[in-house]
Amino acid sequence: MAYKNFTVETDNDGIALVTWDMPDKSMNVFTMEVMDEIEAICDATTADDKVKGVVFTSGKKTFSGGADLTMLKGMFAMMAEEKATDAGNATKKLFDAAGRMSWLWRKIETCGKPWVSAINGTCMGGALELSLACHGRVAADDKSVKMGLPEVKVGIFPGAGGTQRVPRLTNAQDALQMMTTGSSLSPQRAKAMGLIHEIAEPKKLVATAKKMIKDGLKPVQPWDEKGFKAPGGAVWSPQGAQLWPAASGILRRETNGNYPGALAILKCVFEGLQLPFDTALKVEQRYFTHVLQTPEAFGMIRSLFVSMQELNKGARRPADVKPTKFKKIGVVGAGFMGAGIAYVTAKAGIPVVLVDRDMEAAEKGKAHSADIVKKGVQKGKTTQEEGDALLSLITPSSDYADLDGADLVIEAVFEDRDIKKTVTEAVEDVLKPAAVFASNTSTLPITGLAKNSKRPKNFIGIHFFSPVDKMMLVEIILGKKTGDKALAMALDYVAAIKKTPIVVNDTRGFYVNRCVLGYMNEAYNMLIEGVPPAMIENAAKMAGMPVGPLSLNDEVALDLSQKILKAAIADLGEKAVDPRHMDLVNTMVDKHGRFGRKNGKGFYDYPAKPAKKHLWPELKTLFPQQKADDVDVEVLKQRFLIGIALEATRTMEEGIVTDPREADVGSILGFGFAPYTGGAISYIDAMGAAKFEELCKTLAKNYGKHFKPTRIVQELAKSGETFYQRFGQEEAVKQAA
Ligand code: NAD
Repeated sequence: MAYKNFTVETDNDGIALVTWDMPDKSMNVFTMEVMDEIEAICDATTADDKVKGVVFTSGKKTFSGGADLTMLKGMFAMMAEEKATDAGNATKKLFDAAGRMSWLWRKIETCGKPWVSAINGTCMGGALELSLACHGRVAADDKSVKMGLPEVKVGIFPGAGGTQRVPRLTNAQDALQMMTTGSSLSPQRAKAMGLIHEIAEPKKLVATAKKMIKDGLKPVQPWDEKGFKAPGGAVWSPQGAQLWPAASGILRRETNGNYPGALAILKCVFEGLQLPFDTALKVEQRYFTHVLQTPEAFGMIRSLFVSMQELNKGARRPADVKPTKFKKIGVVGAGFMGAGIAYVTAKAGIPVVLVDRDMEAAEKGKAHSADIVKKGVQKGKTTQEEGDALLSLITPSSDYADLDGADLVIEAVFEDRDIKKTVTEAVEDVLKPAAVFASNTSTLPITGLAKNSKRPKNFIGIHFFSPVDKMMLVEIILGKKTGDKALAMALDYVAAIKKTPIVVNDTRGFYVNRCVLGYMNEAYNMLIEGVPPAMIENAAKMAGMPVGPLSLNDEVALDLSQKILKAAIADLGEKAVDPRHMDLVNTMVDKHGRFGRKNGKGFYDYPAKPAKKHLWPELKTLFPQQKADDVDVEVLKQRFLIGIALEATRTMEEGIVTDPREADVGSILGFGFAPYTGGAISYIDAMGAAKFEELCKTLAKNYGKHFKPTRIVQELAKSGETFYQRFGQEEAVKQAA
């Protein structure tokens, strides 16, 4: 029989080699059609007496990335439709759909013939779960081979047997750690954990898999044998008594109870290990059905999976501009940011000229890359040859003439209008007419900077976040005159360095920094009210923020906050800044010399390692303190999330951000806005604008007019629409009411 996504070739030993190679796709993913074909292959090979066993592999460089997003979208759409027409049946239908993969893998596992998975490259999610259901697993010995169950990162969990098979192959502690963090494993680590049987040279992968069958691999999983015992011991055993109380404590510490997917993993493993395998799979299916219906799963899948992929693929790219293949990129300013930008550019294989005022500064910028490479080699993340090749792409220089021939030049010099003007003019003197000039400014509006340019159409903002090599977001800012070509080239560049872009219109602070400032300002308000500093930090983390606002302010630097506040007063007038905030920052910087992490003194003290940073004890003496018991932590959490979300709505109302997908993805990748919400706008949509408006009004009454609901929130509260509906993205992913 011919399949669309698979070839099946049976050799003289009766081993059927099933090769998964989807046409028109760069990566194999699970679709309904793929699952139907796998089932047909299972039926056919089981019925065919000539077939002794099956080797399952991929015809692509990677094995598989897991489920296709259209399948998940389809599940949400089905739920939405069913709930509207036949609510009683909706959950049952979802339950059946959610179990399709799980029971298909179980069918393979119990078909009576041995199956071996030959893992030749990245093997994620459902693909690893399929492999775990095979009786044998071999992985190619290659750095590109990674295995993992990353579902928790998009709000769900491994629901196709993952939570049952992993803890039956390895100890429950490692299983929980792997699944609740969604981390990926090298073949060596997977083998050490007992998740795979063999590691083979890439060329001998299929032969090794076939040999397992020829050597008499039993088509029965250990858990289907009589007397099976989980390797980590039973739940009710001395080992279990050590593990389980601590496991729930650790999960609570790491997630603050915000992630139903992560909690479900714990429940599935705990309950499943006490049950016969088929019942355990059913328990997993039930939890999976439940988690799929949570707003957390919906928001995270939409933003961190669907929208992120769409943005990465260039959702905002003008389609009629030819893609740029970069031959050379210039970076001017080899300081903190410029050095990082040079590194990520070279890492993408693009030659970079890194210019600073003198060779010493330029060389120092390149040394930053050498440092990252050295650490990478030490940790085994990269090889010396790869590192050397990367470094050879960076040419330090103090001569602007070396920028000749660059397609794109990114400026990261001091945040000073005059210096930026001089640099723009000097660079444009050597640039070819078609080249694009970008500024990495964090505060200066692009339209103003573009006035220094002879070709404002080719002038754009490309705003990175620090540390550049780690932060996945890049904010692209359109000046009034920025043209499509510059936008397309900026997006091509961001795609080349494998980061996620959002495109925003010009304003002071753009999108991300406006929201971040709101977050830090609310912490200033709390400090001034006398909320104990530790409560401020903890409440933010409980709300789901990865870094407390005071800690974040220390990273940004308090003297920089001081500069930003002063600049806002200078440019916009006294009213632009709360005078109490200015006083607080002046007191910290001018009176106490506390600049932040960079001088070891900020809202925190930074003692020498191994001691950990701790809140500056004197902070409590700056304002009369409230009693901790008198402070409502829930309200503190709301103030952080609502404050940021309101700022996000202001940027949408002003037309700075035009697409809720970008507001959401930008808020999570840019400053870690409580990821379980799906982002700042999804946070509002999930509760409904009416409820959000009501909360804003209460907060405005008690904590200041900055909480007053924006016009757009009021409008949506009245109309009952969501932001995604209003901005034409409601079809992206449908959610059941
Ligand atoms: P930095 O002080 O570390 O580096 C600036 C570099 O520019 C220095 O090496 C300096 O020698 C060089 N320079 C100054 N004048 C020059 C000239 N005429 N020609 C060539 N080189 C010159 O500053 P940074 O933190 O890297 O910030 C650079 C830019 O990036 C600023 O516009 C800043 O607002 C922006 N930015 C900073 C961050 C951050 O977190 N630090 C984040 C995003 C954007």
